[in-house]
Amino acid sequence: MTDLVTRFAPSPTGHLHLGHAHSALFGWTAAQRGGGRFLLRIEDIDPNRCRPAFERDLIEDLAWLGLSWGDPGGDPGDAPGGGPVRRQSDHFDDYRAALARLREAGVVYPCFCTRKDIAAEIGRAGAAPHGPDGPLYPGTCRHLSEDIRAARIAAGETWAMRLDVAEAMRRTGPLRWHDRGRGWQTATPEQLGDVVLARKDTPTSYHLSVTLDDHLQRVTLVTRGEDLFFATHTHRLLQALLGFEPPDYHHHGLLRNAAGERLAKRDRAQSLRSLRAEGAEPAAVRALAGFPD
Ligand code: GLU
Repeated sequence: MTDLVTRFAPSPTGHLHLGHAHSALFGWTAAQRGGGRFLLRIEDIDPNRCRPAFERDLIEDLAWLGLSWGDPGGDPGDAPGGGPVRRQSDHFDDYRAALARLREAGVVYPCFCTRKDIAAEIGRAGAAPHGPDGPLYPGTCRHLSEDIRAARIAAGETWAMRLDVAEAMRRTGPLRWHDRGRGWQTATPEQLGDVVLARKDTPTSYHLSVTLDDHLQRVTLVTRGEDLFFATHTHRLLQALLGFEPPDYHHHGLLRNAAGERLAKRDRAQSLRSLRAEGAEPAAVRALAGFPD
């Protein structure tokens, strides 16, 4: 039997709120119940938005909440505090190596488009295909010749690397993945289109680094919010291209505020920091986050 490993993977772009606490406790509880391990990973690939101070604060908030990570279980009352953490910005070489494999396989291409270029192309196309997160990349750079690519690179243009989803799907054939809440899914990565795998400003992207890290850290059950459900179709394709065994998934519902809106980092009133400052106890905050003791 495979040992159960779950994880919580926040980005240090602000303070954690009750929605994050729900997500962290969801993964932590699954590990506890299954006699498995719970990991914490810091997803700090975005140099413009991530701050070391937010990382420090979120680790402190999670420990205060009663979570421990990197060790076999632990009790919320008895074992507050940390454990080893994987910080993505320490591992850019791993992502570069994975991208090189995808480049050799011929399933990625350089994209020179700016946001403005993409918006203009979508405007010209009239009825541009839309995915769950908005309009899809219209494919402007997908079929540029090697000569044109080389000339634009030599001329100093900056580029991102995109996944050629249609080509990749031709290589892998049909794929499936399993969600513990919603059952077996046929992978439809075309819904997010040719996603960026390495950005102009950082040598990876969310999709590439999360897929690689869940594999390297031997995560067996990925728990995360249902806002990332469609991303999993793309991750399943990357797993097949890179030869990774897919983990199991459990996408959970998102906590909402009284007005029914998703909690966001900007809703400061719901941050764990502000609840702590008001004198809330960890058990009360766990209950507010949907996990009463
Ligand atoms: N880092 C992502 C976020 O902050 C979550 C990634 C995941 O759980 O796959 O939303």
